[in-house]
Amino acid sequence: MLNGQLKGKTALITGSTSGIGLGIAHALAAQGANIVFNGFGDAALIAKLQKDTADTYKVKTFYSDADMSRPAEIETMMRQVATDFGGTDILVNNAGIQYVANIEDFPVERWDAIIAINMTSAFHTTRLALPHMKAANWGRIINVASAHGLVGSAQKSAYVAAKHGLVGLTKVTALETAQTGVTCNAICPGWVLTPLVQKQVDARAAKNGISIDQAKRELLMEKQPSGEFVTPEQLAGLAVFLCSDAANQVRGVAWNMDGGWLAQ
Ligand code: NAD
Repeated sequence: MLNGQLKGKTALITGSTSGIGLGIAHALAAQGANIVFNGFGDAALIAKLQKDTADTYKVKTFYSDADMSRPAEIETMMRQVATDFGGTDILVNNAGIQYVANIEDFPVERWDAIIAINMTSAFHTTRLALPHMKAANWGRIINVASAHGLVGSAQKSAYVAAKHGLVGLTKVTALETAQTGVTCNAICPGWVLTPLVQKQVDARAAKNGISIDQAKRELLMEKQPSGEFVTPEQLAGLAVFLCSDAANQVRGVAWNMDGGWLAQ
């Protein structure tokens, strides 16, 4: 779509060792951006991911194991990127976790972790990335929120609160950068079949004594009228668009890609 227009830019994608973040990392690398990976996983697999991405797209890659629940580790990561690449040009706040329980049963430490990883980490990365972006008068901040950033679902109090908060942060960041070349927007996916959702499919199958396929169908039909999962590649296409010049005046939106979930 952009024909390599992101060549020379550096994109940091939190939570990019898996799922949606990995899809976005590949798509930005395909446009020529250097990639900073972050997230957890097997060290050898992550090293291979870094090397394969560098070789395939002829870009530089870097990996930070910073835990997004720890502000000091986020600061170290952002400093490393500034030293090695001159700064973060494209920031994709994507790292996220889920926990499902009624409010009265919700473990306090799970609430704290979800708020920290799914919302507060974006405040820290954004505050630390903005000075470089403003000085360059170009930057893109993409917050991977959720359909749950716009509507609620029972048993997901922390996740829904964090994602609504992330959409709020998106709007304020967009307003504070409105007269600059920096834009900030949120992407709000519906169901995407990543490890985060596979856990919910498996739990439903076990609880209801149904097959994995039946659990997937039920999960989709509750919320997503298309009856199909959104894919990381489709979401990555939207992220690439948001990085393009055509999106210069797309500011502060929370763009759902959700198979019709929010149309109901
Ligand atoms: P995933 O589990 O495949 O990936 C999550 C990534 O975050 C992994 O790389 C993991 O290592 C990383 N991560 C987790 N905790 C971390 C921490 N403390 N510090 C650093 N990295 C950490 O999940 P996914 O479905 O690809 O989710 C990515 C984002 O998309 C999340 O913010 C999620 O809420 C959001 N989302 C997912 C769906 C879906 O249906 N899968 C829908 C809407 C929104």
